[in-house]
Amino acid sequence: MDGDVLLKNSFGRTGPKERLAELGTHLSFSDEELTSLKDSFLLPNAKLEEFSRASIESSVGVFPLPLGVVRNVPMSEQFVHVPLAVEEASVVSGASYAAKILSYSKGITSKSEAALQLAQIALLQVGTEGEQALLRQWGQVQDRLMSLLERMHARGGGLRGSEYRRLPSGIFVFHFTVDVRDAMGANIVNTAAERLAPLLEEITGGSRLGAILSNYSEQRIASAQCILEDRHLPRSSLGSQKIAERISQMGKWAEEDLWRAVTHNKGIMNGVSALALATGNDFRALEAAAHALASSMSPDSQHASRYGPLSTYEYSEGQLSMSIQIPALFATVGGATSHPVAQWSFRVLGINLKKEINAHMLNRIAASLGLVQNFAALLALVTTGIQHGHRKHDGNMSQDPQ
Ligand code: NAD
Repeated sequence: MDGDVLLKNSFGRTGPKERLAELGTHLSFSDEELTSLKDSFLLPNAKLEEFSRASIESSVGVFPLPLGVVRNVPMSEQFVHVPLAVEEASVVSGASYAAKILSYSKGITSKSEAALQLAQIALLQVGTEGEQALLRQWGQVQDRLMSLLERMHARGGGLRGSEYRRLPSGIFVFHFTVDVRDAMGANIVNTAAERLAPLLEEITGGSRLGAILSNYSEQRIASAQCILEDRHLPRSSLGSQKIAERISQMGKWAEEDLWRAVTHNKGIMNGVSALALATGNDFRALEAAAHALASSMSPDSQHASRYGPLSTYEYSEGQLSMSIQIPALFATVGGATSHPVAQWSFRVLGINLKKEINAHMLNRIAASLGLVQNFAALLALVTTGIQHGHRKHDGNMSQDPQ
């Protein structure tokens, strides 16, 4: 290996400006190139420099993304304006156009229930005796968990259940579920899992393999539905009935075809992940959970856990019914939700941060937006085509098909 390409150990210990300069020298950037990049994008001011330094290790600046607003999303109780941080053209304009069409419906109804976050503790070498001991001392384990989650209990959340499973390899996995209220809950349950692990080892005689949250919580789901009369679909040579029929056929295509389903879901996540970024939420966790949820959407007798679309469409008697499920992982406290832009987004969304349990509202908006985004893509696909369809609504568009 060529030692000349290595960066010094001191790289991590300096600041963003120094690291940029070191990389610049290393990669033979001219002073002009580096200054322009630094002043315009990477480190445009002291505030962003501090943000980058305080957020991650070895930072060299920030990567700005465009921030747009999908206007007038027709939730059943009120219209909502939805900020999205996204670099892909057509996402904001497509959703705004679809929101306008769906505003002729009675509105999008939505639901998000308790934020139940799952955590896992895996143990090795737990025999039948260890398992029996755990069952006998189940109360002690619950008491320990209750005390670890005391502060969350005080908020009205806390422990909601626990169970264990044995995997085919013999690994013993203890699960517990926590209502984390307005938080995503990663740090809370990770801390509780790590602190509970020694007691489980002691009781079962097993040896801890790992203790961490699961990014898939099947009970942490937000859903949205909307019914649109076909006469409100845009006029085109196809006619409104054909458009509605074909949108519903697009849903079937995704149900029966993995290749289509992944792209169908990617289109949904275009909006959902962009909302996560605009509100300082963990879009990686959302993406992981969304595809896990999609894997359990359309089981059939031959393929118990087949990957399917997160949304479904039915057309009958002049009405196009659409519905969606997404993971309800959006938080209004914790992580990067305290970033001033995320706080601005909450105000645009009309989320009252003084009210407790406002994360449900954000999760309901996210599910509604996912449906709007998906409807936009399917409408474009069955009419003008995705390239032409989206380009028309906002000028300078170019995008990949969803
Ligand atoms: P956090 O620890 O930053 O904040 C949550 C805390 O806020 C709670 O523990 C509680 O003390 C407090 N709080 C105040 N008001 C609350 C309310 N109304 N409801 C609930 N809690 C309230 O955040 P977190 O949610 O524990 O963790 C989120 C962060 O963890 C994200 O940045 C995520 O990227 C990161 N993370 C993710 C993973 C993963 O997904 N696998 C793993 C580790 C860390």
